[in-house]
Parts: sequence; C-alpha cells; structure tokens
Amino acid sequence: MIKIQKIGQIGITGKIKIIAEILYDQQIHTRTMTIETDDTLENIPPEFAAFMVMPTAVFYGHDIDLTELHVDPIFASNLQNYMKRIVLFSCGLELFEPSSYTWLKEFKKALHLVHPIYGQFRQIEPVWTKSRIGLMFSGGVDSFYSLTTRKEISDVIFISDMNAPEEKSLKAVRTLFPTIKIHKVHSSTMGAWDRGPDGWFLVSHGCVLYSSGLLFQNNLVEMIVSSDLGTHEAGSGRDIDYLASTSKMRFTTYGLTSKHEKVRTLLTLDEKTKKEVFGHLQVCYVPRVGDFNCCRCSKCVGVMAILREHGAERYSTTFDFNDLEDKIVNMKGDIRFFTSDMIYTIKNTENTGIKNAAKAFLEKNKIDYQEKA
Ligand SMILES: [Zn+2]
Repeated sequence: MIKIQKIGQIGITGKIKIIAEILYDQQIHTRTMTIETDDTLENIPPEFAAFMVMPTAVFYGHDIDLTELHVDPIFASNLQNYMKRIVLFSCGLELFEPSSYTWLKEFKKALHLVHPIYGQFRQIEPVWTKSRIGLMFSGGVDSFYSLTTRKEISDVIFISDMNAPEEKSLKAVRTLFPTIKIHKVHSSTMGAWDRGPDGWFLVSHGCVLYSSGLLFQNNLVEMIVSSDLGTHEAGSGRDIDYLASTSKMRFTTYGLTSKHEKVRTLLTLDEKTKKEVFGHLQVCYVPRVGDFNCCRCSKCVGVMAILREHGAERYSTTFDFNDLEDKIVNMKGDIRFFTSDMIYTIKNTENTGIKNAAKAFLEKNKIDYQEKA
C-alpha cells in the first residue's frame, strides 16, 4: 500500500516547490517537483499526487490510498478507468494495434494489478471564467505543430527532465509568441526511469505528463498533449490522455497525423516562423553534452530524412545532415516507431538516396516492407 499523506507547496510564483509525503514499506518518502513559472499557482490541487506514485505502484504491485486527499469525483472515476486499462493491459486482454503488440508483451510482464482507495470526494466548483489552454511542450515536431496550428494556446508546460537540458526550443516560443506563459516543471519521479524494464518507462512517461499537467487545473481549462499516429498504451496517447481529466480541466490529444504531414505543415509557415522552429527544433532524448540533437537515434534520423525529402535542410541548424543515408541504415535505439516512417518514405519519396537507405534499413533489420510499401 502506498499512502499519500500530505501535499504542500513553498511559494506561489517564480520558483515553486511542491512536496508530496508518501508512506510505503513503513517509511515516509518525499517526492518533490519544482516549477519555474511566469504565473501564480495558488492552492495546488492534490490530484497530481496520484500520478506521481503510480509508476511505483504498478511496478511493485502496491495499491494507492488516496483517502487523505479528497480528490475530485470525476478524477476518481477516470483514475479507476486508467487503472483498469493498465490491468487489462497487463493481463494481455486489451486490444492493441498489431504493430505495437510484440513489444508490449515484454511490457506487461513488468506490471502489477493495483487499486486506488478513496475516502471522501471533494466537490469542485467549475470556474467558468477560466479560458486558458495549455500545451505539454517538448520542443519536437509534434509540439511545434500544435503550437503553430492551435492559435488559442496561452500556456506552455515544459518538463525539463524529459527533454534536452539546453531548453533552446523555449527561446523559439518566447520569440514567436511573447504573450504565452511558460512553466518549467522538474519532477523527481523521472529518476525512476533508470530502474526497471521498458514498461516502467512507458508508465512513467504518461504519469509524469499527467502529474505535471494536473498542477495547473486551477489556471487552465484544457491541457493539450501532442501526439502522432503512434499510441503509448498505458503511458500516454490518444486513447488514454482524457483519463487524467478532472471536473476543472480536461486533457485532450491533438495532432493525430503523421510526422511527415506535420513537417510539411511546418514548412508552409512564413519564413521568420520557419527559421525559429527549425533553428530550435529539439527532437532527441539521448543524453549528451553539447550537441543539440544526437543525429543517430530514430527520432533524429526520422525528422532529418523528412527534411531532406523536402529539400528543407537549409532551415535546420540543429541537425548534422552529413552522411544522412548511412545514418538511416545504421539508425540506433528504438526502431519501432521508425519502421512505419521508413515504409511511408519508401512509398512517397522521390529522393532515390533516401528511398534506398530506407530499404537498406528495413532489410538490415529483417522487416518485411514489400507488401505495405
Ligand atoms: Zn537523437
């Protein structure tokens, strides 16, 4: 059993520290989050704490005791569905897209069945005057696509540990949209990424997003999570994001279209905007010092290939396009999402070099693409 005993905050503006006191294994553990914000955050809502402890709960099989928190009833019912989703998923009973199924098998071995335990519910009065809309922003293609096509976005939430330490992409936000409020969240939950198998990463990914986003439910009415056609079962994605909603703020998924389509849309922006976006684009999660994107992993190489297909390398200063074809063939890291991009490329590109490199990559990884391409 994980019991969330107490939450608190130090400060309401500038640099704010959020503390959750948690009891498990007969010991008190503290989890902290730090927010650097352009705004004022009063009375931090307690719902965030449920997602902060979720990765620990599903990994070790602890139930989550929320009786001290008096969470919102809508949130409670959503959270129950979220838990059910994880349970179905861990039993292999959930339906998945065929492309994601094989790697999800490893994931389910790492998950345990957990239950939330509630006490009294807190009735939340809706704040109808609130109209601000937030975007979970990481500085990649999905983020910039959402930012430039959803004009009503008023706030950007940047989770600093999930992204490159440089935070260069935030400079582009400040230049292009000076009135947008920026909030940077640093969460100790992220340390958990180092432990456990793949599933840990996926559960953590969604939970860090939701726990960070829920901190803003007194200020925002909607929180957008950018997504492409891929879905992260039980982590975050188009079928699950709304399950973090409360009666005050809803989570929504935006941008369900391919990376190719998004890059194409970004390339139709005016010259000044395009220069800012592609001059600060940050797609890579590989830890590194100095260089902006690693230019070897699937996220980097995928976007670089699309930019070359469109003859748009000149806009980009955050990638090294030298030997791109070799980089495609020898792409490092997670190839699962990259595979569908490469099949799309083979089908659609007129750039022979890129097409041949994509074919060589798929052949090297023994992926049958003939039928799909
Ligand atoms: Zn990379």
